[in-house]
Amino acid sequence: MGTNLENKQEEIQEQNVNNYIKQVLNLIEKDQVTEDEAKWITKETVNNFREHVNPGFLEYRKTVTKDGQFAAVEWSDEGSCFKDVNGKKYIDCLGGFGIYNVGHRNKKVVKAVTDQLKRQALHSQDLLDPLRAILAKILADITPGDLKYSFFTNSGTESVEAALKLAKMYSDRSTFISTTRSFHGKSLGSLSGTAKGMFRKPFLPLIPGFRHVPFGDIDMMRKTFETSALVGEDVAAVILEPIQGEGGIILPPEGYLKQVRDLCDQYDALLIFDEVQTGMGRTGKMFCAEVYNVVPDILCLAKAFGGGVMPAGAVVGKEKVFKSWFDNPFMHTTTFGGNPLACAAAIATIDVLLEEDLPSRAAEVGEYFLQGLKDAAVGHEDKVMEIRGKGLMIGIEFHKDEVGYEVSKALFDRGILVAGTLVNSKTIRIEPSLTISYEEVNTVINAFKEVLPTVK
Ligand SMILES: *Cc1c(COP(=O)(O)O)cnc(C)c1O
Repeated sequence: MGTNLENKQEEIQEQNVNNYIKQVLNLIEKDQVTEDEAKWITKETVNNFREHVNPGFLEYRKTVTKDGQFAAVEWSDEGSCFKDVNGKKYIDCLGGFGIYNVGHRNKKVVKAVTDQLKRQALHSQDLLDPLRAILAKILADITPGDLKYSFFTNSGTESVEAALKLAKMYSDRSTFISTTRSFHGKSLGSLSGTAKGMFRKPFLPLIPGFRHVPFGDIDMMRKTFETSALVGEDVAAVILEPIQGEGGIILPPEGYLKQVRDLCDQYDALLIFDEVQTGMGRTGKMFCAEVYNVVPDILCLAKAFGGGVMPAGAVVGKEKVFKSWFDNPFMHTTTFGGNPLACAAAIATIDVLLEEDLPSRAAEVGEYFLQGLKDAAVGHEDKVMEIRGKGLMIGIEFHKDEVGYEVSKALFDRGILVAGTLVNSKTIRIEPSLTISYEEVNTVINAFKEVLPTVK
C-alpha cells in the first residue's frame, strides 16, 4: 500500500518535471517572449536562484532589488549590447569581464560554430582532430617570439593549472613567485597564485611553494629570487598578469615587466603571463606582452579566446617548455579542451580581430574613452581617485567602495552595465566589446557625467 502511494507520487513528480522541461524548451525555441512569459521567466529565475542555486547571488547583484521584486534577467544579446527578458537594452561595458572582444554573438564566430556543429560537435578522442592542430599553428604565428606549442582548455583557471604543471615538469622545481592583487582563477592550483586573502583563507594550505610579492616592486622580486635560491628552493616560474584585471586595472610601472624577464633569465626561471583578460586585442595589441615588448615562456589565454560564443582557453609555450610533455602527452589532459566547436570559435575570433584590426581599434577608442571619462570627472576629485587604463581595459577608482557601487547602480538604471558588485566596487571596470561605436562611448561618458553629482 505504502509503496504504491510512493510510486504514484513519484509518477506525478516525474510528469511535473517533464511538463516543466517542455515549457522551458518551448521558450528557448522562441524568437520573442510575451509579457506573461517574461513574468514567468523572471519569477522562476529568482525563485530557483533562491532555492536551488545560491540565494546569496540575489543579495550581491545590483541588478536585483532588495526583496527580489525587481530583477533584471538577461535573455538575448547582439553587438555591444544585451537585452533583458522585458526587452530593455543595455550597453555592455562589463563585457563579461573581457569575454566579448569581438562583440556579442559576432556573426562570423556564430557562423563558424554553426557550420562546425552541423558536421561534428565534439571529437572522437582517438582519431586526430584537425581544428586543434590548425588553431595551434595559427597561435604560433600570432603570438610573440618563439611561442610555438599549445594545449587547449575550457577556462582561464584551467589554462593557469596547465601552465603551473608545465613549469614544474620543465624545471623540476616547485617555487612560484606571484604578485599581490593578482587573480589567476579559483581552482586549488590557480588559487595558490591568486592573491586575495578572502578567497584563499578557507582553503589553506594550498599548493606549497607560492611566494607573493607586491606587484610592481622589482626589489622585492629580486630579493625573493635571491633568498629562494639561497635556501635551495629555486624558483620554477613567475606568474603575473601584465596588467592586473580583477585587482582593479593596475598597470605595471615603467620597465617592470622587462626587469622581471631579466630576473627570470638570470635565475633560469620561466615567465608565465596570464593574459586571460588582457589577451585577444583588449589592451591595444593582440597580446599585452606586445604592448610592453616582453616575451613570456608560457602564455595563458581564455575569456575572449572563444569569441564570446564558446568557452575556450589555451596555454601557449616555447618548445623547450613543452618538450617535457612530448614523451607522454597524457601527463595533462582534458576531455573537452580543444573541442571542434571551441576551436572553430577561436579561429573565427582571430580572423575577426585581424581582419577588422580590432587591437588598433581598442587602442584608439580606448584613448578617447579614457580621456572622456577623465574630463567628466573633473570637479569630482572628492569621489573619483583615479581613472586609468590601456586600450579598452579601463578602471575608475573611487575613494570609497560605496561610491563605486552607487555609480554602477545609477549607470545600470540608465541602461549601462559596468562591473562593480557589493563586495568589490572601489574600482569599477570598463571592458566593452572592441567593436563599440563612438556613439555608444559618448552615451556612457555622458551618463557618467550626469551620475557623478547625484551620488553621495
Ligand atoms: C578571469 C581570469 C581567470 C580565471 O578564468 P576563469 O575562466 O574564470 O577560470 C584567470 N586569470 C585572469 C587574469 C582572469 O582575468
